[in-house]
Amino acid sequence: MVEKKEFLYEGKAKRVYRTGDPDLYLVEFKDDATAFDGLKKGTITGKGEVNARMSALLFQVLERRGIPTHFVELVGPREIVVKALRIVPVEVVVRNVAAGSLAQRLGLEEGTPLKSPVLEFYYKSDELHDPMINEYHIAALELATPDQVELMKSYAFKVNEILSQVLELAELILVDFKLEFGLHHGSILLGDEISPDTCRFWDRNTREKLDKDRFRRDLGKVEEAYQEVLQRITEAVGKQIQ
Ligand code: UDP
Repeated sequence: MVEKKEFLYEGKAKRVYRTGDPDLYLVEFKDDATAFDGLKKGTITGKGEVNARMSALLFQVLERRGIPTHFVELVGPREIVVKALRIVPVEVVVRNVAAGSLAQRLGLEEGTPLKSPVLEFYYKSDELHDPMINEYHIAALELATPDQVELMKSYAFKVNEILSQVLELAELILVDFKLEFGLHHGSILLGDEISPDTCRFWDRNTREKLDKDRFRRDLGKVEEAYQEVLQRITEAVGKQIQ
């Protein structure tokens, strides 16, 4: 039984605690939601539970398919135990369909399919508002070694393939998502969460948005969308295992 000990850190959507084991942390997912660099704040009731459960489920799927992750176990309705990571301060975004900042930056209509997946890096820095960077910036600022960058890229594309397959079974389109990686005893592991907060999921038939864009853009039925994608993805993973 892993014990929740000293509070370590609070982020926008999660709280992190130490456990009795220095190698393991406990992550508690909150219902708090923020968008637009923290300017918009709100609550999505039940989000913490959905994000904890979905992350647990998808990290397990990824581990089975060869992606090393920080996930250890789901220990409460909104709590997971993870391997303690030193986070690489780089966000890795993968996109299959133009949306959000890419649609804006390149003047593409939201929903335009991309001929091949696009991978982008952003520097994790609240003061700088997470600027987009490339591999040269990562090397120059020593945010990660070239080998670590190569690993993060290959894991990110593999995660895209694996998650796209699961989502297809759930009749959802994986539009884009953000990953974070960290170091645990010298190895790169996938960290953070995989949830409607960090991915864009669209219904395959109606193209309805079933993710945090419902909160960002005041589209209504936010809670319902979170519950719906969790249910559909849980069923899809069940089908895949059978
Ligand atoms: N994303 C995220 N955290 C961030 C920025 C983006 O989880 O700080 C996710 C976002 O949910 C989407 C993808 O990364 O699935 C690409 O986001 P985009 O660059 O389009 O930015 P946004 O439109 O969310 O500002």
